[in-house]
Amino acid sequence: MGDPSFILDGMLGSLARWLRIAGYDSIYFRGLDDNLLLVEIMSFSRIMLTRDRDLFQRSQKLGLRSMYLESEEVKVQLSHLKTELGVELSATNSRCPRCNGSLRKTPKADVQDLVPAESFNAFDEFWVCGTCSRAYWKGSHWEKIRETLDST
Ligand SMILES: [Zn+2]
Repeated sequence: MGDPSFILDGMLGSLARWLRIAGYDSIYFRGLDDNLLLVEIMSFSRIMLTRDRDLFQRSQKLGLRSMYLESEEVKVQLSHLKTELGVELSATNSRCPRCNGSLRKTPKADVQDLVPAESFNAFDEFWVCGTCSRAYWKGSHWEKIRETLDST
């Protein structure tokens, strides 16, 4: 079995970004209707993560895989997923935190137009999202991201 993939309710945007950074395919729609959310999980066999108890109970009645998250804190949510589902928290295979697209390593020469000059000059490794074409590099916030994941 491959890694689990997720669909998150509208209250969990921040968790969705962290799961993507940790490499998990995670769909998140702000304001998506609850019924549509349930249809999406059924059709994609994703695990639903929710802070909405009603939605959680409805999904359980339908026999869907879902998990209720009590805490509002991302670190607590992540550590819950780690304990309950064995979600591994490393940032070695990240997906695009903005859109969930796959990132691919891209030669420096190809990202010049996508990256601010300062970062372009300071870094040699770049990744580009195959879906939204945003470029990423391991800038100053990167160590903090890694520390957060490692310490969760
Ligand atoms: Zn993207």
